[in-house]
Amino acid sequence: MITAERKPMEEIFRLIEPYGKILLVGCNECVTVCHAGGRKEVAMLASALRMGRMKLGAPLTVDELTLERQCDPEYAEELAMVVDQYDAVCSMACGCGVQTVAERYQGLPVLPMVNTEFMGSSESNGVWAERCAGCGNCVLGLTGGICPIARCSKRIFNGPCGGSTKGKCEVSPDIDCAWQLIWDRLKQLGQTELYSQIMAPKDWRTARDGGPRRIVREDMAI
Ligand code: SF4
Ligand code: SF4
Repeated sequence: MITAERKPMEEIFRLIEPYGKILLVGCNECVTVCHAGGRKEVAMLASALRMGRMKLGAPLTVDELTLERQCDPEYAEELAMVVDQYDAVCSMACGCGVQTVAERYQGLPVLPMVNTEFMGSSESNGVWAERCAGCGNCVLGLTGGICPIARCSKRIFNGPCGGSTKGKCEVSPDIDCAWQLIWDRLKQLGQTELYSQIMAPKDWRTARDGGPRRIVREDMAI
């Protein structure tokens, strides 16, 4: 999933400073799972903003709404009936959701209330960790299911580097060396021969280096 964290309150107050009536919009998908921008977080932020602005002597009207998915134009359309009543839309979705809403309602400021972080998974209650960098050409089948791009600090394709010590990355003793994890997993799978195969330099054209990416599924086009 895409992970995110609410922006610092000072920044949010700065962003909404010019406005007197805002629509605070959450998203029921990833940001709900990582407790950044679901219905509950919308309610909490709305009440903090009302109180904060009251204290500043500049009362703010905040209405709340949570869409099924903000990154889908079909769901963003649900705002059409109400957005005209507001000075701005404040989105608690990831950057994809913010941009989908902004593209649809071009005459209205659409402001991000969260910082989008990374594609990750839940490690334990309240802990999420980066797992995929969206490189566009997955090599997990060769690396025992451990991503050398998202999980190695240097994105090394043929690791480990000289800094790996006792299974930890030289960047921090709190970070597992991705290549140690890869080795351990390949051993477990009986696939250590994959470890000795030199991987060719990665072709980054399938990643962000080739410019903004699109997926076009001709079979789904209407
Ligand atoms: S190899 Fe690429 S697609 Fe696969 S998990 Fe890593 S970054 Fe994601
Ligand atoms: S110590 Fe391991 S994880 Fe850290 S940069 Fe080197 S190979 Fe990558």
